[in-house]
Amino acid sequence: MKIMPNRMDRSFYKYQCELEDKALEVLRSGWYILGEEVSKFEEEFARYTKAPYCVGLASGLDALWIAFRLLNIGKGDEVIVQGNTYIASVMGITMNGAIPVFVEPDEYYSIDADKIEEKITDRTKAVLVVHLYGLPCQMDKIVSLCKKYNLRLVEDCAQSHGALFQGQMTGTFGDVGCFSFYPSKNLGAFGDAGAVVVKDEQLANDFKVFRNYGSEKRYYNKIVGANSRLDEMQAGLLRVRLKYLDELNAEKKEIADRYSRELHQNKIILPQVRPDSSCVWHQYVVRCKDRDRLINYLNENGIGTIIHYPIPPHLSEAYQYLGHGKGFLPRTEEYADTVLSIPMYNGMTEKEQDMIIDAINGFA
Ligand SMILES: *Cc1c(COP(=O)(O)O)cnc(C)c1O
Repeated sequence: MKIMPNRMDRSFYKYQCELEDKALEVLRSGWYILGEEVSKFEEEFARYTKAPYCVGLASGLDALWIAFRLLNIGKGDEVIVQGNTYIASVMGITMNGAIPVFVEPDEYYSIDADKIEEKITDRTKAVLVVHLYGLPCQMDKIVSLCKKYNLRLVEDCAQSHGALFQGQMTGTFGDVGCFSFYPSKNLGAFGDAGAVVVKDEQLANDFKVFRNYGSEKRYYNKIVGANSRLDEMQAGLLRVRLKYLDELNAEKKEIADRYSRELHQNKIILPQVRPDSSCVWHQYVVRCKDRDRLINYLNENGIGTIIHYPIPPHLSEAYQYLGHGKGFLPRTEEYADTVLSIPMYNGMTEKEQDMIIDAINGFA
């Protein structure tokens, strides 16, 4: 038996009939862009997150960069962001000409809330938090800091659909919550898709105008926008998936809880969930100083793994122009050198879980 890092087919087959029915319904509707499926999904996702408004977009990256654009954050402005994130978070900032100011993570893989204040300058315009791996950031502290310094707060929720901090949905603490529905996310489409949730009606409307070439009325373009529409097919399929999101998240939590109970291996550090928060386990990320050997050992035992992420944005080739070398963010870099995501997906069998637990516990 071979276990792959992810098996997206499993959660498709579980809801196959309903998904196929919806796909046919959309195909036969004769309406494929900005129709009823999109507006219903927006309503339903807003209700799910308890946010006043949701606007569907074409991807998570679009949600991020359009958010900064509409918040008027651009050339020369600084945005504080954690060093250990997927590069899209940083591209969302830099696509507008703004400058990412990196902060080290805490032990929960989130931005270290106690290290934000020292990075604030008179050019700082916003904080971008990333609820990485489904683990919520320390939002109480971060919200008060943003209030104190009059900063915008944007949340990258691409990995945190349904995750809560003090009972409140991630994505609803700041000005904009940015979601990706890339197929492997907790709420995954069958292609690229994204959305934002916002409190402000005007801002919600700005997103709707921007995503459609800057036009509210066909062929009357108010601003230079983009084509970043969520399409009817993805929206329809997401509506089916959204109904089962809590069930899917609960299934992942059960697997994660089992790992945390049954993995006894002094060579690895298990992920910790921040008190007062609930995690949706986008990934189950352990750390191991002997990572290369662990990867090879697991491979030999038929278990595939992935590193999220091996190169932190500040050391990637794309961001050499920022001028940060190795050693600039020691904790971020240590995480990049030691993190490993072990298989954890919806539809994973108990036997697969047994095999993974036994293999890891047997690593010598
Ligand atoms: C997936 C992801 C994104 C980007 O989403 P896309 O839909 O692929 O553009 C942004 N940030 C994080 C943390 C992600 O995991």
